[in-house]
Amino acid sequence: MSTPSENLIKTYNKSFCIKPFTEISNSAIGERMLCCQSEPVGMKIKNPDIAEDFFNNPAMHEIRRKMLAGEEVKQCWQCKESEMASGKSHRTFIMQDFEKEEVDEIFETGKVELKSIDIRFGTKCNLACVMCGPGSSSLIAKEEDDEIGLIDLNDFSLDQIKKYSEGIVLFKTTGGEPMLMSAYKKTLEFFVEKDFAKNIEFTTITNGTIDYSDLMPLMNEFKLFKISHSIDAADESYNYVRWPGKMSRIKRIHKRIVENAKQYKNIKLEWGATIHVLNVNQVVKISKYLQTLGMHNAYNIDMVQIPNYMQPGLVPKQVLDELEVEALQWQDWQPGLYRQEILDFIETLKYNYTKINKDPNNKKVLLDELEVKTIFWKAKRNLDVRDYVPYYKALKTK
Ligand code: SF4
Repeated sequence: MSTPSENLIKTYNKSFCIKPFTEISNSAIGERMLCCQSEPVGMKIKNPDIAEDFFNNPAMHEIRRKMLAGEEVKQCWQCKESEMASGKSHRTFIMQDFEKEEVDEIFETGKVELKSIDIRFGTKCNLACVMCGPGSSSLIAKEEDDEIGLIDLNDFSLDQIKKYSEGIVLFKTTGGEPMLMSAYKKTLEFFVEKDFAKNIEFTTITNGTIDYSDLMPLMNEFKLFKISHSIDAADESYNYVRWPGKMSRIKRIHKRIVENAKQYKNIKLEWGATIHVLNVNQVVKISKYLQTLGMHNAYNIDMVQIPNYMQPGLVPKQVLDELEVEALQWQDWQPGLYRQEILDFIETLKYNYTKINKDPNNKKVLLDELEVKTIFWKAKRNLDVRDYVPYYKALKTK
């Protein structure tokens, strides 16, 4: 059977994606992106405003030309990698929602039409997760004394949303932590007041530290309101990988949210794990935890590519093997599509492992960089990685 990637290549080509033709997206520090997964395009969004450069910037024209011609677009390397590893990617996921006629029209006319906005309101965040950086978390910028500091795009973004959101059907925001941003609630109110909400599928990716039950009546006004809660561990290692978050507190919030959301038919809860070198052993544990919430069917797993020293393929082979056994037992016990997705994800991890182990010198460099980071965190956070990641000691090239 063909993979989603092979189907896309057969129908269109290896690089076409609809996002640069339909979506405005920016990073938390205000760089133009093609979507939430792409590399920045190399321009700031205030140029002079988010729509002007989306429609008219020569760099965007060139990216679209390449996509129509099937030429590689360097900003999209993560989708390419992911398709090579598993036959699936953010691109294949997005493209399944579009009709062929719609895409054919783009190929015939080069039409650019704004249908979705994926905007971040800045870098304010109350967590400093191990795979994140100063460009996405103000707490990390503070800890690392990084010159980025705190980027606040609240007023600018809200103004742009008010100007350009008429007619959009998708809206997404992530962090920083969106629920800490003043523009977040105002955006919801604006969409409801203008009567746009009923046509919009709204997605929020939250770090899960905020109980937003009071916003649920507003969220329920949307056509669909998806909220994905980041959860990268299901036991005490959460306290290390999502510092200074605490698993005990997160559990209480999850319970309240799940209970309170039951009365709202348009709110859809999801959980997302970002898997890296320090939490590979959590993949099935998280699924089991979500089962206790009645939510294991709402679990998405992603893999860290950047920073390089956080790639999950740096783990010893034994860790991958143990994870696979655990995933097979989990699937055997109660077969289901979502458990099968865990097994599919393990294939992606194996691909990453093989790639890393082809270059032992580079692997050693990455592990050394990881060690420097964990020493830094120990000094700053007073937490020792060895107390939270059982296989850390075995992470050696020799
Ligand atoms: S190919 Fe991937 S990275 Fe590029 S715009 Fe599409 S979804 Fe985003």
